[in-house]
This record gives sequence, C-alpha cells and structure tokens, in this order.
Amino acid sequence: MAEYVASIGMEVHAELLTRSKMFCRCPVAFGGEPNTRVCPVCLGLPGALPVPNREAVRMVLRTALALNCRIAMRSVFHRKNYFYPDLPKGYQISQYGETNPLGYHGHLEIPLADGRTKRVGIRRVHLEEDTGKLIHMGPDGSGVDYNRAGVPLMEIVTAFPPDLETADEAREYLVQLRLILLYLGVCDGKMEEGSLRCEPNVSVRPAGSDRLGTKTELKNLNSFRSVQLGVGHEIRRHVAILEAGGEVVQETRGWNEQSETSFSMRRKEEENDYRYFPDPDLAPMAFTEEEIEELRASLPELPLAKRRRYREDLGLSDYDAGLLVADPAWAAFFDEAVALGGDPKTVCNWMNSDFAKALNQADRSVRDSAVTPAHLVDLCSLVAQGRISGKQAKGVFAEAFRTGSMPSRIVEAQGLSQITDEAAIMDLARRVIRENPKPVEQYRAGQTNVVGFLIGQLMKASQGRANPQTARKCIEEALAE
Ligand code: ZN
Ligand code: MN
Repeated sequence: MAEYVASIGMEVHAELLTRSKMFCRCPVAFGGEPNTRVCPVCLGLPGALPVPNREAVRMVLRTALALNCRIAMRSVFHRKNYFYPDLPKGYQISQYGETNPLGYHGHLEIPLADGRTKRVGIRRVHLEEDTGKLIHMGPDGSGVDYNRAGVPLMEIVTAFPPDLETADEAREYLVQLRLILLYLGVCDGKMEEGSLRCEPNVSVRPAGSDRLGTKTELKNLNSFRSVQLGVGHEIRRHVAILEAGGEVVQETRGWNEQSETSFSMRRKEEENDYRYFPDPDLAPMAFTEEEIEELRASLPELPLAKRRRYREDLGLSDYDAGLLVADPAWAAFFDEAVALGGDPKTVCNWMNSDFAKALNQADRSVRDSAVTPAHLVDLCSLVAQGRISGKQAKGVFAEAFRTGSMPSRIVEAQGLSQITDEAAIMDLARRVIRENPKPVEQYRAGQTNVVGFLIGQLMKASQGRANPQTARKCIEEALAE
C-alpha cells in the first residue's frame, strides 16, 4: 500500500467583539428576537451609506501583528457579489487580493505532541461583514434574521501550499489561533454559537509527489472535536478512493455529527465568479508606521510565549504550563498570584488541582470565583510557615472557596493552629522516625527512654502545635510499624 501525505488548509471566520456592527451603529449581540438589531445600512436599503467601525479595524490589525503578518499600509474594501437571501445587499463587503488584506504573509507556531513546535504559514487576515441567518420553519417555509448581518467578521486563511498535515495538527492550529484571539480580546471563540467558524480543506497525495491532490472543503464543524474528526475522516476517505483507483471529486462537504461522516453538499465545477471590485462607498484605509507600532506595543504576552516562560523561567512542567495558559483569565490569575509573592510551583499545584476541581464542581468560572490570587498566596504562606498542615490547607481552601474569607482569618477563627488532626501528626511521627535512625536503633535495642527524645523532635517539627498526647501515641505507633 502506497503511503499518502495530507495537506490541510484552514479558513477561519471570527466575529469581532465590537459593541456595534461593521458599517452601522446597530448593536452586536447573540440571539434575541429576529430582525431587532437592524437599520437601513445593514439591511442594504437604497441610499444608505456605510461608515467603517474603527475598533474593528484595530482588532484585525492587532490580530495580524500577533500572527506575525505584514501590514497593508493602504488597504481597501471590495464588494464580493453573489446572491443568497441572507445577504441583503447582494454583495458582501470584504477584502480581496494578495497584499491588500489588512494583514498578509504571517505565521503561527503550534506545539506538537513530541514537544517541538511547527510553523504554520498564514496567507491573509482580512476584515469583512457577516451575513444574516436563514431560519427554517418547517411547513411555514423559511425566514431570514438579519441581526447578524453586518457584524464585523475577520477571516484568517492559512498559506498555500498548506503546512498542516494531520488531523491533530489541524485541531492544534485552531486551538492556538482561538487562544490568541481570546488573549487579544477580539473574539469570544464560541464555536458552538458560531462566533468562531472553521472550514478546513483537505487533499491527499502519494508521498513523494509534489502535486497536491484534489481538495474537498468541510462545513458545519462546530467544535474542536468535529474539526479533528472531520479532517481525519476526509483524509481516510480520500486515501480509500485513491487506493481503489478512483478520483476525488472537488466539492464542499457537510459534517454529520451523529454518524461522524461527511456528505456531499455541492460540487465546485469551477471557482465562483464574485466580480470583486473596490467598494465606491468606502474610502481606502491608510495607516502610519507610528499607528502600527503603537498597536504592536499594545499586544499582550501571547499564549505560546507565556507557556515557554512558565516552563523555562518558572520551572513548571510543559503540561502544567499548558493548563495554565489555556484560558487567559486563568493565566492572569496565576501571574497575579506570582506577582504577589506566591511560589510558582505551589500556586500552580493549587490551581491545577483543588481550585480547578472546585470551580468545575461549582460550574463556575475563575472570573467569578470568591478565591482571588491574594487568597491563594495567603494560603500558601500559611502552609510554608508550618502554621497549618497540607491536609488542613485543603479544608481551609474549601472554606475560602465557599465563603470568600481570607485563609488566615479562617485559621484564626477555627483555631486551626493547634494540630489535633491525628493523621497529620502520624505523618510527622513517621518523618521523625525516618530522620532519626540512631535513636530508633537504640529504642529497638531496649533503650525505651529515647521515646521522649523522639516526641520532642515531633513537637519541634510541628512548631509546638501538635497535641502532646497524640504525639506520644503516634510515635509509639510509628515505632511499632
Ligand atoms: Zn445596522
Ligand atoms: Mn469570508
């Protein structure tokens, strides 16, 4: 059986988190009564004139810079002409051309399973507007909701020929791209609500061949899982066709989430003719070097750089660092705790275990958690100073999570500073036995009076807070083990 190589191109659409639409002042929101956020501009009524949303332009420029793109210092909007009921004007305002999009010729690094990273070329990052939505009402026919029409939309397309070769890489590309958009605060990344949409195209060729195979494009993938499964399914489907001596048909295919298979939607006999031309209602955009440099300086630390810093400067494992950066608010919590003096590894351990579990169980986000970085740092220092045991700390954490009280307050209020917990004292007793082999040997040789010495060592280890009766009992038990 011949070996095959897949090439995967990714086209991603991201709705921008602006307050108003791209060319009018209608508000941007999800859901709601159909056709309640519309005006003559986004309905395409005759005579209505578009005014570009400057915040959307800034968001696309920042994204382009974060994706290492070159910036079009002069950039125009085009009309992409086609007919579909969800497109009220009969054209979509978009950006055409190789070097006209706000950003072009960039790249994105993705981490691979073996610890290396792969550079994925980006062909363009451009600004356009979203379409409305068709609503199918069964026997009552279909309706159109234009609430989404004119919402600022950013399109990000990978370079050609594609760099991505496996379903795992395609998924990772999307994970990293989404994360960058979240860090930049330009998109909420909700694939299930359609604010982030991904259309991969897949082709397969025999290994060694330098001619790309015929590609198919996949639609309706609304989760990372669907993207990974869909791309994997297409690759296997292409290989099976080629193995059987057949030919892949160039077409757009839908994804059936239930059966986890793709199905033909429409064939692409030739490229659509969109008759692109510059929109005469919109003046060309022009930027100065200073404006661009100011935007570049406004970029936050990006997820992959943050992950590297956590690993290399703070000594975290790649796995832990990956968990921390997977949500900007989670990473910001960690950064703040470290800035407050928390030990990175200890803070990270709390976050990725008890804290993550508690949030998960309460179905709450770190954004509305009662535990703040200051709480966690306070808790860590109580343990570091030996004022409470690790086991007690778990209870204190749970209480802080529930009530928002500071850990040191909880310890004070509950009089926890005396260790009465037998298991904790038993741990100390075992440690004392381990660390004092000589007296233990003497004890076993019959000198039972060394028990007093060992109890003294335990009291010292607990900074005098162990209950003395329990300490004696535990030392005797530990000696008998
Ligand atoms: Zn409008
Ligand atoms: Mn588009």
